[in-house]
Amino acid sequence: MNLKNNINKKPYVIAGPCSAESESQVLKIANDIKLVTDVFRAGAWKPRTNPNAFEGYGEIAVKWLQKVQSTTGLKVSTEVATPKHVEICLKAGIDMLWIGARTTVNPFYVQEIAEALKGIDVPVFVKNPINPELNLWIGAIERLKDIGIHDIAAIHRGFSYLEEKYYRNRPQWQIPIALRQEMPDVPMICDPSHICGRRDILEAVSQKAYDLDFDGLMIESHITPDGAWTDSSQQITPEVYALLIDNLVRRDVGTGPLPSELEMLRSEVTNIDEDILNLLSDRMEIARKIGKFKKANNISIFQKVRWAEIMEKGKKFAEKNDLSEEFVVKHFEGIHDESINQQEKIMKR
Ligand code: PEP
Ligand code: MN
Repeated sequence: MNLKNNINKKPYVIAGPCSAESESQVLKIANDIKLVTDVFRAGAWKPRTNPNAFEGYGEIAVKWLQKVQSTTGLKVSTEVATPKHVEICLKAGIDMLWIGARTTVNPFYVQEIAEALKGIDVPVFVKNPINPELNLWIGAIERLKDIGIHDIAAIHRGFSYLEEKYYRNRPQWQIPIALRQEMPDVPMICDPSHICGRRDILEAVSQKAYDLDFDGLMIESHITPDGAWTDSSQQITPEVYALLIDNLVRRDVGTGPLPSELEMLRSEVTNIDEDILNLLSDRMEIARKIGKFKKANNISIFQKVRWAEIMEKGKKFAEKNDLSEEFVVKHFEGIHDESINQQEKIMKR
């Protein structure tokens, strides 16, 4: 897939609503974004957590995409999750297909989709699986390659993570970077909408992908984002979307290749720092509960024996894990001080 040859030398962009909700909705969005978009996206089949949620208009929505194609000249794409979806899309002349995160995760589904595409060289985008497993992502791409699909790009949409509080799906940048190293011929597109799950950090994540030399972006855009039937908190209006694309800056990264190894290590450090902060926040939540319990049962905050035990454990851990005792003690003291402050606040109430 040659993604470099795009209209405005900005990254290659795929944009459109999360779901196709009506013919007029897709046509309006497509018209509003066509000048800054390479490919239009809209979900016809929506994989939903809750069985009673809107699951897409299916084949009817595919007809709306044909209308977008013929009236705007934009290339159109949608998500396929079964051989039947593939068949409907191919019959309708949908230009590009993507495999969603909940499908990439299952090699049987990917294989069935690949077989439905045998002999047809339609471009396919493969989203990363929901879990952070590089080999599953690579395996899905290989299944398509093995069947004879040449035009394949990867889409990085972040990974599910139990402790995540900041993103909807944690980016774990080291994983797409590793995929690029393993498969340098596969273009890499970032989907900041599903990574962020919210509008306020969309631009920063898009710029980050641009800085990492990703080839393109997939962004969800909707006329009235708050009223969207799916993924309403992460969609942006066509105006905001156009501004976001316009604001992206190609930073001078020097002449050599990007320091991918350094980026991978930094990304891992970022993940760990986030884990530490999340754990600290969870710990303080429990400290507050303990505060309430102590207040109700008239127990004093400072428990000397308990504190000595925690310190002793920490020191032993330091010795075993090549950390200085001073470092571990300092951190525990900080945590302990904050915990006491939190409990005192509860006691004074
Ligand atoms: C989508 O693109 O709207 C979608 C469902 O994405 P994902 O598969 O990344 O969750
Ligand atoms: Mn979506």
